[in-house]
Amino acid sequence: MKICTISFHSCPYSHLGGNGSGGMSVYLRELTAGLVDFPDVSVDLFTRAQNPICVESKDISPQIRVVQLSGGPEYPIDRKDLYEFIPEFSVNLENYIHRKKEEYDVVHSHYWLSGLAGGYIKNKLGVPLVHTYHTIGFMKRRALGQKEHRCRANSERQIAHVSDSIISPSTEEKESLVEEYGISPSKVKIVYPGVNPRLFYPIENRTILKKMDYHRQDDFVLLYVGRIEKVKGLMNVIEALHVLNEKNLPLFEKVKLIVIGGGKKEEELAQNKEVSRITRAMEQHDLKDKVVFLGSIDQAHLLKYYSAADALVVPSLYESFGLVTVEALACGIPVIVSQIGKMKSIVKEGKNGFSFRPNDPVSLCQSLENVFMHRSRLWSRTSIREDVVQRFSWDNTTENTYQIFEGLINGCLWPKTIFQPDGSLQPV
Ligand code: UDP
Repeated sequence: MKICTISFHSCPYSHLGGNGSGGMSVYLRELTAGLVDFPDVSVDLFTRAQNPICVESKDISPQIRVVQLSGGPEYPIDRKDLYEFIPEFSVNLENYIHRKKEEYDVVHSHYWLSGLAGGYIKNKLGVPLVHTYHTIGFMKRRALGQKEHRCRANSERQIAHVSDSIISPSTEEKESLVEEYGISPSKVKIVYPGVNPRLFYPIENRTILKKMDYHRQDDFVLLYVGRIEKVKGLMNVIEALHVLNEKNLPLFEKVKLIVIGGGKKEEELAQNKEVSRITRAMEQHDLKDKVVFLGSIDQAHLLKYYSAADALVVPSLYESFGLVTVEALACGIPVIVSQIGKMKSIVKEGKNGFSFRPNDPVSLCQSLENVFMHRSRLWSRTSIREDVVQRFSWDNTTENTYQIFEGLINGCLWPKTIFQPDGSLQPV
């Protein structure tokens, strides 16, 4: 099976945690690595060239090739400004395929920009298109109340109709897609992302906190990991710290927040508008000694921070899945998440964390207090980890995705069975 994967706006093999790449890159890396474990699979991943000196194609392994094609100027551009370059990229993709005489069995596109290229190439090649949205414009707009790119809504609707199958990470997203676009529920397959248990596991090490002077026995270390954008809701954590202070709650004295993500500390963080907005709020509320921004950290080193923290906070206003939630749980720490999307069901109240109403700092305070009060009981790191790695595995993600591809290629629309997160098989 030869797969044409399209990730137009970002290459999954570039650095993570900047504002252009995050969960989607992790998803693509894990899925691609898993798919090529099947004996007959190879993947060509097409992305926009962002550097003129890079070679056109590069083999990541014997079965994985990354191909960079022109689609707009060859330097990094915010994805909001990339729409107009889709036609150029799509034609270059078509030309490349003809020039190299490649034959693909299926196209898998990621995010709406790639979905447009996917729709074009599917028709040219006469093969099925599978699309994964990662985020959806109308859902984001509802959560944030702000406008998305003027062409996004129509494009996403068009992609829903042109795709042969859509992969979605949650029931909520599936239901919204079906309702908004009037597509058949059988077109949307729920496949959960996973967590890599070899990258994320508990370690006993709080020394990393020494550098930040957050290592006192009774410090309550809260961690945030992810891109720093309004939709991620980090401002709510700052506001919650302010509420703790105003209410004179004992937790305020002990709580410290570590923020990871947002790009390289020296270059990208200083340019980030959301970081500036948050920093101003911190100054206003006199919280500067409560928060430290570390910039992006290589994923291979994140477990040290997850393991050293008392809890991870995921305050997103909109999130399709939230990989950091399962990563923190795999490291054995409780999570405090907003009640949205898949995260609602990942969290088992009081057992592996607490949830709060999105965009509500007072509700977030309550969850912080809950985790803090439970602290003396010591959360069971082993059971938190065991539960999550059993429920979410990249092996299941890969197996289910492979079955969807195979079903479409063989002309039957849906595989006869699908793996459930607990590893069982469910007949369809
Ligand atoms: N990440 C990372 N380094 C960072 C920040 C984030 O490796 O400095 C990774 C993190 O481990 C996670 C992903 O980026 O796998 C973020 O995924 P998530 O689903 O939480 O958010 P998204 O980026 O999809 O909005």
